[in-house]
Amino acid sequence: MRVLLLGSGAREHALARSLSADAEVQALLALPGNPGIAQVARCVAGDPTDPAAVVRLAREEQVDLVVVGPEGPLVAGVADALTAAGIACFGPTAPAARLEGSKAFAKEVMAAAGVPTAAAHVCTTLEQARAALSATGAPYVVKEDGLAAGKGVVVTGDLDVALAHAAGCLSRPGGRVVVEDFLDGPEVSLFCLADGRTVVPLAPAQDFKRAGDGDTGPNTGGMGAYSPLAWLDEQNPGLVDEVVAAVALPTVREMARRGTPFTGVLYVGLALTAAGPRVVEFNARFGDPETQSVLARLRTPLAGVLLAAAQGRLAELPPLDWSPDSSVTVVVAADGYPVAPRTGDEVTGLAAAEEVDGVHVLQAGTALRDGRLVSAGGRVLSVVSLGADLAEARSRAYAAAHRIHLQGFRFRGDIARAAEQGGVH
Ligand code: ATP
Repeated sequence: MRVLLLGSGAREHALARSLSADAEVQALLALPGNPGIAQVARCVAGDPTDPAAVVRLAREEQVDLVVVGPEGPLVAGVADALTAAGIACFGPTAPAARLEGSKAFAKEVMAAAGVPTAAAHVCTTLEQARAALSATGAPYVVKEDGLAAGKGVVVTGDLDVALAHAAGCLSRPGGRVVVEDFLDGPEVSLFCLADGRTVVPLAPAQDFKRAGDGDTGPNTGGMGAYSPLAWLDEQNPGLVDEVVAAVALPTVREMARRGTPFTGVLYVGLALTAAGPRVVEFNARFGDPETQSVLARLRTPLAGVLLAAAQGRLAELPPLDWSPDSSVTVVVAADGYPVAPRTGDEVTGLAAAEEVDGVHVLQAGTALRDGRLVSAGGRVLSVVSLGADLAEARSRAYAAAHRIHLQGFRFRGDIARAAEQGGVH
């Protein structure tokens, strides 16, 4: 199989690592990739959000499967163009990717499909937002309708802050906000592979969105993750089946009913509230950094699974094979991330970090300059470990992270610490 992977983050490096380890994969290309991905794939310069360019490359290289990592190409219609050209694509078409691209649309689909989620008000004026906030009460949850790279959501007890965020979003052309009820409870990420009809869940994971230890500081793209969730297996062993039956399948059926079938990853972000699981958000692609830990544990060769999803054959797959080991991902971020990340500094210690048992290092915001690896983005590396249990996985991940060096770099010290001690986050 010849595979083309779109994207350039640590999530894509994780996908590239798994795809290149699949004996069925004879050729792996990445558009545009990064220096880490270049170790396992042939990187091609270009714009992964340009549908015509992606189709051209896929044709030239006689690719059997295109795997889309980030949301940008999906929203730009890359999957639509590939499908029209008869090329198998793992990732939804633009109309199906609206489940991520518009929170108001996601709410509409959830309502039609009877999926449990927070009650929501879609507002186009500040007066509507004010009325909605007074209806939900504190804590206030205000979300920009469109894609905002994790920065569009404000959860606050302060009405003025909530209103100011709503005003900011509404001031943009076509601005809409979703005001919704606060959901109280631990969060879980569940990636559901979908082929338009069938759903196959991956192992649940938990991520850490805030910049600082103890969930302090600003929201980020994600500072770490772990899988499996032993506490969830103990407290609610039926959760994955319940979410597939009550969330993923009804959503996939509703999208098919609308004539826009969903193929790819339906990323279900859940809050486990006292009243049961509720959807916090949908994304239309793998989550970063949870993917790094989830794929570290997946033993089934990945390319065949993604091709089956792209070709509507998920129902034919045997059950996925998972390592019982625990995996922890620690994201190494540049000085100043997420506000004003500093770039251009040399990154060293990757080989030493990978000498720690069970550890591999994935690259995100990196570049090669004069043969040296330098930082080129906010989230620079993901240090990923496997261990017999969470304690071993944590100690390995942190031993490795301490071997990395980059001017002013930072990582959270508490990824999976509560879970290791019997807690939930
Ligand atoms: P992402 O970066 O994951 O794409 P996003 O911008 O799509 O994020 P959401 O995932 O919807 O936004 O929200 C971000 C975070 O805000 C959630 O992970 C959750 O912690 C918090 N949040 C969102 N909605 C609610 C809610 N209704 N109640 C409580 N917290 C919420």
